[in-house]
Amino acid sequence: MSALNPQRTINELKELRALTGDADGAQRVAFTPTWAKARAWYRAKLAELPVDVHQDAAGNLWATLKGKSESALIIGGHIDSVPNGGWLDGCLGVLTGLEVLRRIAAAGTPAVTVRVVDWADEEGARFGRSLFGSSGFSGSLVADELRNLVDKQGIKLPDAVKAHGIDLDRMTDAAVEQKNAKAYLELHIEQGPVLLSKDLPMGVVLGTFGVERHAITFTGQAAHSGSTPMSHRKDALGGVSKLHLAVREIAVKHGAVATVGSVTTKPGIVTSVVAEAEMTLDQRHLDATALAAMYNEARTESERIAKEENIGVAWRKIWTIQPFPFHPDLIEFGDAAIKETCGVSHRLPSGPLHDAAEVCRTGIPTVMLFVQSLHGISHNKIEDTKEEHLAMAVQAMDKLASKTINWIERNA
Ligand SMILES: [Zn+2]
Repeated sequence: MSALNPQRTINELKELRALTGDADGAQRVAFTPTWAKARAWYRAKLAELPVDVHQDAAGNLWATLKGKSESALIIGGHIDSVPNGGWLDGCLGVLTGLEVLRRIAAAGTPAVTVRVVDWADEEGARFGRSLFGSSGFSGSLVADELRNLVDKQGIKLPDAVKAHGIDLDRMTDAAVEQKNAKAYLELHIEQGPVLLSKDLPMGVVLGTFGVERHAITFTGQAAHSGSTPMSHRKDALGGVSKLHLAVREIAVKHGAVATVGSVTTKPGIVTSVVAEAEMTLDQRHLDATALAAMYNEARTESERIAKEENIGVAWRKIWTIQPFPFHPDLIEFGDAAIKETCGVSHRLPSGPLHDAAEVCRTGIPTVMLFVQSLHGISHNKIEDTKEEHLAMAVQAMDKLASKTINWIERNA
């Protein structure tokens, strides 16, 4: 019986980096020859295991180890990267899944079916649609919104994915893969500074943030900067200035985050009071009720400020998504697996979205584990994690898989 071998995972991550990276970083952009090469390399590893391998209608690659029960545990990640990406983002999840699969397969037929999925195009780096394959799986993908997307070379998305065996109009047929799925686990690098700043190797993820993203336009009146007394001004930028400070306070009050990332003014000249000022607002929270409260408070505040400044205000929705809280039992197992491996654990939300959010959307119990990112940086060739932490991450995922398999059996 072969035991779990975390060093093998580290070696394979380096092998993949050598095969599909260059001096600028990882180059496994989905639906490119380098991505296909990465998948062929991964398929060759799977061929040594007693698993069925197939690509679903959305381009996701599944490896299935049949168990005594059809009830299935799914472990996932994504082998695609952004251009000039890091060596761990995404593929750590896939290759850890592979190692856990090896350990389970070596012990004979498992109690439940165990599947490892490599999601297609998590990053959306080429066409701008992230969570591509996993949204085909969840059914949230709308083909008509993607039909006319083109890459920098002018190649249309439907043509690019067709070359890899995907029919855009049939992608949501991948929902068939949800059958018998009882739990989903994903290991990912944190891509932020929280674990690093607390000097912790790993954390269990509570869920992915919901997002309220809006453009807010204040309308005042252009007037000469010399001849218009302060008391006579309708200064649109006054609205933006006050609201920016207000939304930061609202975020702090709710223990969340809010960002004003862009401000534009018209006429935008040094000698005129601002007639029109537009700001973008991005608010995020793990709790839907709290997120709704943050949004409502910002709106109310914007109207109060507009009255105070004698200007108008209008809101336009850019994009919203609900929070996806992970499963409480699986969060407990993840926490325990990390404590058993690292001695100490931490619970944290995920700012970035992950394929796990799309799986969670379908109602399949889901949880993620994060491992510390050095520099707190990702989507960059300097992305890195200590090898001892990578080894712990493989061990913790393996423990979490065992706990989850027992849980699926108990619930059957
Ligand atoms: Zn990723």
